[in-house]
Amino acid sequence: MSAFWNARARGLSPYVPGEQPRGERLIKLNTNESPYPPSPKVIEAVAKAAGGDLRLYPDPGCAGFREAAAARHGVRPGQVFAGNGSDEVLGFAFGAFFASAGEAGAAPAPALFPDITYSFYPTYAKLWDIPFREVPLAADFSVAAADYSPPWGGAAIPNPNAPTGMAMPLPDALSIAARLEGEGRVLVLDEAYVEFGELDGSAESAARGIDSHPNLLVVRTLSKSAALAGLRVGYALGSEQLIEGLCRVRDSLNSYTLDRLALAGAEAALCDQAYYDRINGKVVATRNRAAGALRGLGFEVLPSAANFLFAKPPGMGGGELCLALRRKGILARHFNRERVAGFVRVSVGTDGEMDAFLGACEEIIGEGGRRG
Ligand code: PMP
Repeated sequence: MSAFWNARARGLSPYVPGEQPRGERLIKLNTNESPYPPSPKVIEAVAKAAGGDLRLYPDPGCAGFREAAAARHGVRPGQVFAGNGSDEVLGFAFGAFFASAGEAGAAPAPALFPDITYSFYPTYAKLWDIPFREVPLAADFSVAAADYSPPWGGAAIPNPNAPTGMAMPLPDALSIAARLEGEGRVLVLDEAYVEFGELDGSAESAARGIDSHPNLLVVRTLSKSAALAGLRVGYALGSEQLIEGLCRVRDSLNSYTLDRLALAGAEAALCDQAYYDRINGKVVATRNRAAGALRGLGFEVLPSAANFLFAKPPGMGGGELCLALRRKGILARHFNRERVAGFVRVSVGTDGEMDAFLGACEEIIGEGGRRG
């Protein structure tokens, strides 16, 4: 704490991102990045944009990117918002749509999100003075749509959820949107991982629902399925009113959140679906193979519709396994929260990386068994 911080800064609970090691040669399965490089067309577009035009501000309206996203999803460019990673888009969405302490009238209804979910949500809520209620996942770790009910000042749900990787059926998501619409409130569906589920039918995007649900904001990212975590581009699809709400918040902070290189690369990525279907198909195949192998080692593995697995080792805690993996040069992620402390989240790497991970798990569990 510093005496220079105001009350707001003192009250924040900043998000802690996964480790990004410098220099060390580690197998990095801790932040759900793609193990494959982005499309060569992206690299070409970024290289081309890295020229004298950098003296000029980028397009604050992100027109080229929004047109590409609109074409890809079959919506209008006015139904697309672009941001500096989906984290920024989510942060703006919390600020623009959920009932906050500053609203007139009685105490605002809480924003709802799952109790086990992306841990940035409570951080945004605190930043924007939004009261919230965490809705427990069902016993099988699924999101139970019926548990999302008034009083509510909006809801944010990742689909597939993180860190479980489990997807909610599209009709369930749309039913939450429909019920919130009756109250004049917004559902933010965070589809950071949906493309991996779409490839094998285990998850379905709600993007096509934005025309019938003016209160539905679908948030996407190029960080995972477009292998562009380093470029920082996310976007949202929603009714023009929602997009305008996001622009109001953005333009009260920074009109140019996406630079020229990011805009060029992101637009190129959206135009090379064939490349991405190929690399993401490999990720899904590797994921399914690794899930089977982990089950063979006695792990409990939740059904994943994403590019990571959430798995509980036999005979030891998740934190203990993560530390033992770290000693063997493999990074995975542990969440020290009730109900999931026994699990580790492991991003799907290349086949070779997953073989190294599986071999390490087998050794660690064997050592644990011998000790016990
Ligand atoms: N939503 C979820 C559920 C995530 O796991 C992540 C990645 N940490 C994000 C959003 C943010 O991704 P980005 O800002 O890289 O688009």
